[in-house]
Amino acid sequence: MSGKLSLVATPIGNMEDITLRALRVLSEADVIFAEDTRHTSNLLTHHEIRKPLQSCHDFSEARRSSEIADRVAAGGRVALVSDAGTPGISDPGFRVVRACVERGLEIEAIPGPCAAIAALSASGLATDEFHFVGFLPVKSGACERRLRELSIIPGTLIIYESPYRIARTLERIAAIFPDRRMVAARELTKKFEEFRRGTAATLLAHFQAHVPRGEFVILVEGGE
Ligand code: SAM
Repeated sequence: MSGKLSLVATPIGNMEDITLRALRVLSEADVIFAEDTRHTSNLLTHHEIRKPLQSCHDFSEARRSSEIADRVAAGGRVALVSDAGTPGISDPGFRVVRACVERGLEIEAIPGPCAAIAALSASGLATDEFHFVGFLPVKSGACERRLRELSIIPGTLIIYESPYRIARTLERIAAIFPDRRMVAARELTKKFEEFRRGTAATLLAHFQAHVPRGEFVILVEGGE
């Protein structure tokens, strides 16, 4: 019997954002590996799915990868979820997939929410070409170097950021991309979802006057 690894996308805030297929795959899995078992347990309870849950987070992913591949090789149906959105996208998943690829095992993606794509699709910035950056380096020198590297990319840049660092990041972006159109997409799929458009300087002024709350995707117009 051949097993399978299923990468299952889960909601990024709105519990309605889960596909019928995701629910079926989760309910048919032999085991679900989750970034945070307590978090995923709430999702499963909400949908009346009872399954063995095991953790697979940033610190255990390397060790878990071979264990998951062993289970799939032995015929297991293994689902992998992260706390929110698509596994492997600024979340654990890549190493597990790589381990299964190396062993020639079957892998499927169960598509669904992803903050980057949700933000891009409603941003009003170019969608024909984009570059997913994820989180910028925290240290100022490394962040500045990264932004300079990114300045030559023609597509829309998609950056993940927390509310605690948004102002500092906008300051750094303002120094390197002062004139580019930008969007700060906040609390996507939630009650206080907001798309704020402007330049880095106008967005910074806004978030200095209004305490930034919730999670953010920052989008920057691509280079010429
Ligand atoms: N795997 C996730 C995905 O598919 O988008 C991303 C996980 S990453 C650890 C978390 C970051 O994604 C947050 O810091 C934020 O930048 C972004 N994010 C996640 N949910 C969001 C939401 N509802 N609104 C805006 N940004 C969000």
